[in-house]
Amino acid sequence: MINFTRKKNPMPELEPEVRRGSFAESQTGYTEEEAVCEAMRCLKCREHPCMTSGCPVHNRIPDFIDMICQGRFEDAYQILRTTTCLPAVCGRVCPQEEQCEGRCVRGIRGQSVAVGALERFVADWHREHVAAELKAREGNGKKVAVVGAGPAGLAAAGDLAELGYGVTVFEKSQVLGGVLTYGIPQFRLPKDIVEDEISQLKALGVSFETGRALGEDLSLDDLLGSMGFSAVFLGFGAGISRTMNIPGEDLKGCFQAQDFLNGINLKEGFSGFPEGRFPKYGTIAVVGGGNVAMDACRSAVRTGAGKVLIVYRRSEAEMPAHEGEIREARDEGVEFVFLHNPVRVVDDGSGKVAGLECLDTKLGEDDSRGHRKPVNIPGTEHVVPADCVIMAVGTGADDELLGKCGLETDSKGRIRVDPETMETSRPRVFAGGDAVTGPLTVISAMGAGRRAAAAIHRKLSA
Ligand SMILES: Cc1cc2nc3c(=O)[nH]c(=O)nc-3n(C[C@H](O)[C@H](O)[C@H](O)COP(=O)(O)OP(=O)(O)OC[C@H]3O[C@@H](n4cnc5c(N)ncnc54)[C@H](O)[C@@H]3O)c2cc1C
Repeated sequence: MINFTRKKNPMPELEPEVRRGSFAESQTGYTEEEAVCEAMRCLKCREHPCMTSGCPVHNRIPDFIDMICQGRFEDAYQILRTTTCLPAVCGRVCPQEEQCEGRCVRGIRGQSVAVGALERFVADWHREHVAAELKAREGNGKKVAVVGAGPAGLAAAGDLAELGYGVTVFEKSQVLGGVLTYGIPQFRLPKDIVEDEISQLKALGVSFETGRALGEDLSLDDLLGSMGFSAVFLGFGAGISRTMNIPGEDLKGCFQAQDFLNGINLKEGFSGFPEGRFPKYGTIAVVGGGNVAMDACRSAVRTGAGKVLIVYRRSEAEMPAHEGEIREARDEGVEFVFLHNPVRVVDDGSGKVAGLECLDTKLGEDDSRGHRKPVNIPGTEHVVPADCVIMAVGTGADDELLGKCGLETDSKGRIRVDPETMETSRPRVFAGGDAVTGPLTVISAMGAGRRAAAAIHRKLSA
């Protein structure tokens, strides 16, 4: 029986007042009854565009939703596991409105089925009710190295281990998960969820070596030569912070969003501050309009700051951040200052931040991506008072590492790969995720990791 209600079952969440003072997960997830009721909204349409064009890893969405309708939650989980090793993560952080839910036929006259919330429900149900049962597959005698333990590397490692390869993941930092662990804050993606999904890969036989950086502790020649790997997958992301290149970015109290979020996410993060905690500032101004800026401002609220501002040079309509993230930030008290272009971080006279000097802007012609360009209005300089500034203006490739790898790159410093096989300019070296596309999404990185794993298998079994 189909539930013809036009609206989604809303995802239960903590009240904004509670969220402001806590890093606990803000959304609390469906109950069994809510999940079944939402699953019944699926029309079981013939084309299922949610899966064919809406999901980069082609999750069998109609099939797993059908299992939920029947109350067969573990079967739903097993269906998801055939295409994704991170369902609890993707159910929480995928931009579903641009992907599966954006293609859902129910969305034409009403709201789409809440595919993400259902994926999350199934993965959480499995974690709470079923003891781990994965076992290492019988080995095929060949070894593959994966560099980077973010979503691209994890997805490649999972598929290769399922195919019987001996997989070792080499990770530069001391933690696994990449941006999932040190970038996305706990209130959106609890760390134990990421750890649990990685533990499934360990059970499958994948080995992880942390504190091992390509370009410093090992090279591609080592991996393909003396270390005996038949192929290498590179999934080292694009995590080098970009700066605005304006005066004052080196003042005390001015941070890069990556550093701030790393500190928030990792216990030892703020060891340079008294008691290892981020100080309580009066006003924190976060510069940027993307999802990283939203994570930074919402985290800033939780540090106890008196006031948190988003300073963005375009208007709300051009903000790249997801609508839901903007709404949640606003509910939590973040104030938005639009059409402001920062030109200087102001010094209080003792080397500390006293504000952000900005020019007013107006919107001009479309740029190459179809976004209206902000145009400075001369003579409108003024200072937005703040004692802390966080720059969230994007990340890019690690040029030094790319230079050491000696692989062909494009004009933006992204590794060039054959789009069919994901193989780089060096034979038996494959790559995917942000290192190839520039900063994108978790699921696109996972999709690339899976495509590369299939291509590696084709090459090594030819
Ligand atoms: C704050 C933030 C929030 C985000 N929120 C979302 C979201 O809600 N939804 C979404 O879909 N996407 C989101 N993204 C984007 C998404 O996280 C990335 O697109 C995705 O993580 C890319 O995966 P990856 O595996 O290519 O790279 P990464 O996740 O960056 O992982 C790369 C890994 O390689 C390691 N590494 C780097 N250099 C080396 C080396 N030399 N040797 C060994 N290891 C190395 C890194 O330490 C890291 O663990 C967000 C990004 C950020 C920064």
